[in-house]
Amino acid sequence: MNIVEKNLSGTPEKEFRNGVANDDAKRALVLLLKWIGEDPEREGLKETPKRVLKAYKEWFAGYNQNPSEILSKTFKEVQGYKEMISLKDISFHSFCEHHFAPIIGKVHIGYIPNKKVVGLSKLARLIEMFARRLQVQEKMTAEIGNSLQTHLDCLGVGVVVEAEHYCMCSRGIKKQGAVMKTKHFTGVILNDPEKKNEFMSSIS
Ligand code: ZN
Repeated sequence: MNIVEKNLSGTPEKEFRNGVANDDAKRALVLLLKWIGEDPEREGLKETPKRVLKAYKEWFAGYNQNPSEILSKTFKEVQGYKEMISLKDISFHSFCEHHFAPIIGKVHIGYIPNKKVVGLSKLARLIEMFARRLQVQEKMTAEIGNSLQTHLDCLGVGVVVEAEHYCMCSRGIKKQGAVMKTKHFTGVILNDPEKKNEFMSSIS
């Protein structure tokens, strides 16, 4: 949420986001630059805190969105269609909440509708919304699955997330190329092995 405080002459004085003044956030970034050993005053870095805030607004836009908005428009006229709908290889970029390092990967998703379906672009937007928050892959996988299950009231959902964690490949134990895989199932995809197989083979 952006709030602009105005002074008596009506010109914008201070801009806030989620209760924090942009100037304070910029100062925090200047401190970080100093802390890593940089000179925040040098030419190439002068505008960096401002640019970082702008990028963060986009990378963390998911905090100001919610699934019920994204999944509010559904289609009911589907001629009784009741088979699985799946979408694979939806790419995403997120940041791990433990290190603020990138998580880059793909989501595969499937659901069995119960009278209503949702547009494919909405599935992609739902993933984007959760990815644009600080994340733990396990949590993001469950959040995507549970919100689809709740808002579509479908018969079952399957979600598989495969991602590389930059906190793991660039620091600490430095395991490059390791891909973490998480899964979340609900309803009949959770309980019926045949449906689970159908989902897994549809995304393989
Ligand atoms: Zn991490």
